[in-house]
Parts: sequence; C-alpha cells; structure tokens
Amino acid sequence: MRAKTGKRLSIRLGVAGRNPERTAVSYKAEYIWIDGTEPTALLRSKTKILADGAEPPVWGFDGSSTNQAEGHSSDRVLRPVFTCPDPIRGGDNVLVLAEVEEINGEPHVSNTRALLRPIAEQFADQESWFGIEQEYTFFKGSRPLGFPEGGFPAPQGPYYCGVGADAIFGREIVELHLDRCLAAGLAISGINAEVMPGQWEFQVGPAGPVEVSDHMWVARYLLYRTAEEFGVEATLDPKPARGDWNGAGAHTNFSTKAMREGYEAIIAACEALGEGDKPMEHISQYGSGVEARLTGAHETAPWNKYSYGVSNRGASVRIPWQVEVDKKGYIEDRRPNANMDPYVVTRLLVNTVCAALEK
Ligand code: ADP
Ligand code: MN
Ligand code: MN
Ligand code: MN
Ligand code: MN
Repeated sequence: MRAKTGKRLSIRLGVAGRNPERTAVSYKAEYIWIDGTEPTALLRSKTKILADGAEPPVWGFDGSSTNQAEGHSSDRVLRPVFTCPDPIRGGDNVLVLAEVEEINGEPHVSNTRALLRPIAEQFADQESWFGIEQEYTFFKGSRPLGFPEGGFPAPQGPYYCGVGADAIFGREIVELHLDRCLAAGLAISGINAEVMPGQWEFQVGPAGPVEVSDHMWVARYLLYRTAEEFGVEATLDPKPARGDWNGAGAHTNFSTKAMREGYEAIIAACEALGEGDKPMEHISQYGSGVEARLTGAHETAPWNKYSYGVSNRGASVRIPWQVEVDKKGYIEDRRPNANMDPYVVTRLLVNTVCAALEK
C-alpha cells in the first residue's frame, strides 16, 4: 500500500524514487497517542510526512517501548480519530490524535476511548455535556516554578488569580498555550492561576464526552510541548508539593438535556452518584493517588465519604449557586484528580447518571 502511494507520488512529481519529505508538496502530521504506562499513562507522538492532499493513514509503532507490547510481537496500530491544525508548526501541518489497536483491529487494553464510544452512543439522546477544569503545576528542575531554591514561598493566599511578579510564575507559557489551543480549534473556555505558586488551570468545554476528552488530551499535549520550549515541565501530579499546599484536580462539570431544563434531574444526578457502590466505583477510577488529594482539607471532601451540596466546595459534588437560583443547569464533580483519564471519567458519569435519569 505504502509502496504504491510512493510510486504514484514520484510519477506525479516526475522525480523517480524521490522522498516526498524533500518536496514542497508535503505536510507534517504529528501522530499523538496515549501509552500503556501504569498507573498514569503518558502521551507519545511522532511525525509522518504526507503528500499534499493525502489523508493521515493508519500507522504503526513499537509497542514494546511504550508499555503496550512484549518485544517478540511489538507492532501496534495507530488509527487516526481526531485531526486539527498544528499550531506549533503552523502552515498546513496537523495534529492527529490516534486510538491504539492490536494488529487484528481490536482496541488495545490501554485504549479507554474505545470503551467510551459505545456508552456515549447508548445515551446520546440525553445530550451529555462536559466542562473539565484541568489543574496542573509547572516544575523547574525538582521545584515547582516560583518555589525559591532550598526554601518555600509565602503561604497560599495571593496566588489564586493573582497579578504581579511576586504571585505569578509562568504566565508567558500559559498565554502561549492558550493561543495555541485556540489556533488548533479546541473548545478551550478559560484559564486561571491557581492557589499554589506555579499552579494553573485551563478549562475545556462544554462539549460531548468524546469531543471534550479528545480536546483535553490534545490540550495536554500542547501544554507539555509549549512548556518544553521554556525548559519547564508541566505535570498533572495531583499532590505536587507536600505540606499545606493545594493539590491539583480536574473538576468535571456535567449536564444532560434534562438537567439543563429542570432541578429534579439535577438532584436525581447527585443522588445517583451516591448510590450503593457508585462512590467507590468512581473514586477508584478518578486518577492515581486520589486518596492523597481528597483528604477533606484544601477544598476537598474525604474520598471515602460521598456528599453533595449547593455552593459547597467541601462536597464531593457541588451544585453551583446559580444553578440553584435558576433551578436548572449542571453539577460539578470535584473528585477527579488532575491526572485522570477524561475518557474514563466521562464514561463513568454518563453511565451512572444517564442510566438513572432514564428510569
Ligand atoms: P469553577 O467555578 O469551579 O472554577 P470554571 O469556570 O473553572 O468553574 O469551570 C466551569 C466549567 O463548566 C467550564 O468549563 C464551563 O464550560 C462548564 N460548563 C458550563 N455550563 C455547563 C453545562 N451546562 N454542562 C457542562 N459543563 C458546563
Ligand atoms: Mn524505527
Ligand atoms: Mn475552575
Ligand atoms: Mn481550580
Ligand atoms: Mn471547579
């Protein structure tokens, strides 16, 4: 297949055997995928040069180097599922988010997107929307950005939504990341500085479960790549600094059509999330180290005690005050860790809440 394409290309260019990489009529596709690292997957990416006009094809990689295969049979497949402009390279270049498959076409066990698709489809008529607040922390070497060498900054207080060089660290990276997300066409909806120095947040959504998750993974990719240019690491570590410092979460705002139309469905959703084994089923898949973050302090509810409440940032699930006033809107699940997999969290929420609302 590849040889055939190459042949046709070289005939068209009139340069037999010439590598399309060296012609003007080509573009770069950066294939991005989620690897098999436990307990928290990493992003990987590599570049394919494509002839102008060619669609990004199915591709492959060495799964033995990404915790996705044993060495003796290591080919794994990249199936493009979401493509957008590449705001780093610009021009006609693209980012290509791919699902990982076995060579027989089955989803790889690390492919959580494949588990979300059928659930999203099953409950599509309830029109689920998600807005995810991604918190993260910049590190320079072994210290959060803004932490002085060998010491600690002044206690939390002035940093959240702060202004000025004494409170803010890394804004130039954050601004560039925001511009790149917009240029890529991602559904990014805002940014803010967080409670700990060097800690920030961006929000993606509202959008459907598959879309918001695809956009979140690409936004994370752009964050790592943008910080890389500044010699800074961006981490989703849920507890990046020990002591009296806030952790990093990924509050997940959620609504269905019924919730956007009436309060009864809002309460029914909160109740459904608290039923039976549901709290533990969710918590255990809300990101690695979630117990260490959900201590009951620092604007969290204890991980082993489900609660919901209006305006309550100490509850597992918050009903925003405006939602109570309007008697319709959305709920905020405050439990997911910053390092959560949005394909998993949106699947659990759709599955639990939409099944309950259907009754
Ligand atoms: P917070 O006050 O908790 O910091 P943010 O403003 O950071 O909240 O994030 C709220 C998120 O909720 C945004 O991403 C927004 O797009 C999303 N959102 C707003 N309305 C809805 C809705 N009806 N359903 C789902 N998400 C929503
Ligand atoms: Mn090679
Ligand atoms: Mn927020
Ligand atoms: Mn926040
Ligand atoms: Mn929030």
